Amino acid sequence: MAKTIAIVNQKGGVGKTTTCVNLAAALQKLGQRILVCDFDPQANTTSGFGVDKTLSPNIYDVLLNGVDVTKSIVKTPFVDVIPSNKSLAGATVEMITADHREYLLKNALDQLADSYDYIFIDCPPSLELLTLNALCAADTVLVPVQCEYYALEGLSDLLSTIRIVKRSLNPRISLEGVILTMYDGRTNLSMQVAEEVKRHFPGQVFATVIPRNVRLSEAPSFGKPVQAYDPYSRGAEAYTALAEELAEHNSYTITREERSE
Ligand code: ADP
Ligand code: MG
Repeated sequence: MAKTIAIVNQKGGVGKTTTCVNLAAALQKLGQRILVCDFDPQANTTSGFGVDKTLSPNIYDVLLNGVDVTKSIVKTPFVDVIPSNKSLAGATVEMITADHREYLLKNALDQLADSYDYIFIDCPPSLELLTLNALCAADTVLVPVQCEYYALEGLSDLLSTIRIVKRSLNPRISLEGVILTMYDGRTNLSMQVAEEVKRHFPGQVFATVIPRNVRLSEAPSFGKPVQAYDPYSRGAEAYTALAEELAEHNSYTITREERSE
């Protein structure tokens, strides 16, 4: 059974897409079967894996044109990808009239649960209907937080959205963890923000911190995860460490659950 992880923060530019692409690729290198569903109309995850942003069928066609989800999967040299497309931007309005509009993505991804170990959903920078669909489809939420001023801004809205979803739409959802991104160890600001985030989320911040690293910002223009673009960069090493931490955490959780059965 796949574990579905939504990468959410309604702020733009905090490292959602960078985390999605490179964490997914790093987990695949650890031998996990990975599907990445790009759910942002900007389609940066799609192009980050070297997939054409104008490709059809894409996730919009699956959700609103009734295309079989298996037909939308693109096999890349890294992970399997369901591409996004700018047409998804108009989907929110079209979805309003759909039956069970919060569950359109869940219904599509549930069919793929046996084929993968992890399914990642890269979300747009909002808490609107697209993100709501991602929260209904997900088992857990991974929240990238940029080590900059106002890092915590908006996180209480995000947490209360998750609580509402848990109460009314998806009782199994929980927080996978908070991941500190674009950390610059030379500045006091990064250190202060990291401490503040850890105080707010005790025990829920990943020990692995993603440094600011130019290789991470260059890799997408080559259509590759950083592990393929520059495997010895600090960015690649950090996402590999994050993948190991996440995999270990999950094997521990599963073992604990199995023991309690
Ligand atoms: P989001 O998906 O949250 O909008 P992105 O992952 O697209 O954020 O990141 C925003 C910008 O910052 C992109 O240009 C990306 O290449 C860059 N970036 C993200 N993480 C890092 C990092 N750790 N070091 C350097 N640049 C980064
Ligand atoms: Mg993004």
